[in-house]
Amino acid sequence: MRKNIVAGNWKMNTTLQEGVELANEINTLLEGKSKNCEVVICVPFTHLTSVNAVIEPSIIGLGAENCSEHESGAYTGEVSASMVKSTGATHVILGHSERRQYFGENNEQLLAKTKQALANGLTPIFCVGEVLEERENGTYNDVVRSQVEALFSLSADDFAKIIIAYEPVWAIGTGKTATAEQAQDMHANIRHTIEEKYGKELADNTSILYGGSCKPGNAPELFAKPDVDGGLIGGAALKADSFIGIIEAFN
Ligand code: PEP
Repeated sequence: MRKNIVAGNWKMNTTLQEGVELANEINTLLEGKSKNCEVVICVPFTHLTSVNAVIEPSIIGLGAENCSEHESGAYTGEVSASMVKSTGATHVILGHSERRQYFGENNEQLLAKTKQALANGLTPIFCVGEVLEERENGTYNDVVRSQVEALFSLSADDFAKIIIAYEPVWAIGTGKTATAEQAQDMHANIRHTIEEKYGKELADNTSILYGGSCKPGNAPELFAKPDVDGGLIGGAALKADSFIGIIEAFN
């Protein structure tokens, strides 16, 4: 069966020292606590090794926020999937809307990044989601479907290793959450799209997370929906108490 997962996306926040302190605090608060979901924190590249040293892998998984679509070589400033893996990380966020919007990442590149991540044993947290205009003009289902379909050249074995995160762009960092019904509808559509390509069993086993202004106050309602398997959390992942509050929505 699919897993419930709460993953934090720290984005470009915290110095190394602040990040280590935050990771340590989250790890300490979760130690000895029973939780009904997996927890992952996705942190800046610069923080990976040091954060890995202060978290217990059985309590918190560690992820990067991006990786290169190239294996290695003359790509100044890029960080490869094998470099990420060598820090001890287990996950990588790919296709976040900020990467698509500000860095022009397209479906072709994102497929290449996903292949690099998988080839290096990292679990991709693959983000999809429509912008406000697409929500308002009614094309949102088609937009998200085509973002998911960008991965459909992967084998079933490879696709089965991916976590999908549905993040309506209009809800990210805006304080505007999709309603639990809007999230459920889209998650069900995504699962159906996956089922059409890879079959019911694989679709049922795929974890689909919701992201977009998720907080301790709205997480229980969102996570109660049958196709919402957890959250990808931005702002609320930067404070240990609010991140833990969201994790507790699964208790
Ligand atoms: C995100 O960027 O992945 C996100 C969900 O951000 P926020 O929770 O701040 O809306």
